[in-house]
Amino acid sequence: MKYIRYEEKDKIEKYGVLEGELIREIEWDLFGDYMPTDITNDINDVKILPPCTPTKIVCVGLNYRDHAEEMNSKLPEDPRLFIKPNTAIIGHEDTIIYPDHMSSRVDYEGELAVVMGSRAKGVNIDEALDYVFGYTCLNDITARDLTAKDLQYTRGKGFDTFAPFGPFIETDLDASNLHIATYLNGEIKQSSNTSMLIFNVPKLVSFISNVMTLLPGDIISTGTPSGIGPMRKGDTIEVHIEGIGILRNYIG
Ligand code: MG
Repeated sequence: MKYIRYEEKDKIEKYGVLEGELIREIEWDLFGDYMPTDITNDINDVKILPPCTPTKIVCVGLNYRDHAEEMNSKLPEDPRLFIKPNTAIIGHEDTIIYPDHMSSRVDYEGELAVVMGSRAKGVNIDEALDYVFGYTCLNDITARDLTAKDLQYTRGKGFDTFAPFGPFIETDLDASNLHIATYLNGEIKQSSNTSMLIFNVPKLVSFISNVMTLLPGDIISTGTPSGIGPMRKGDTIEVHIEGIGILRNYIG
């Protein structure tokens, strides 16, 4: 099932499930059961919002073998974690604001994102997927000059609008073997498969939940494959993930 959060002209936030090009509005106990209503909307007639409202976005650096090679980095022994603030969140079709008062190198990083469905603390690898609600696309926008300069990631990864994700959450998906690609102005720049992950989704959920409690709606962004590169104002950037869909954003 594909879950979507959206608003119509009335600006009232609603949840729905996708039925082809139609959104069926639902009454939803978040991450629990939902009741379909009789109300439907064409997906082209609504504003798509980020599909959930996480308290935190836990990101994993250097988690694809091909990306570790392009960065000339040794494979990490443990997942490398950092956090993007939830004030960085924007949705599908929103504009990423280029922070040119501080940075002159802003990169895309197309990533598979895990959406947590229930509170997870200290969970084992073999039960980790029971805590996952579904999956979406995330673009881990990065001011590469600042992450290099600061050594810490908070500034280079944390600007407002640096965490676009969506457009919806797919719940019926095996995330272990999905094609992932990023297109800049229609040209393919990243192309890989989630089978290339150094630490897979169950390992990440377990590892992170042994560091911090994960809450329903929290996001784990699983890292980016090779092919990272810069964007400029006026560009269009898309993250495509098999079985989920396309996250499209503009640079302004
Ligand atoms: Mg990343």
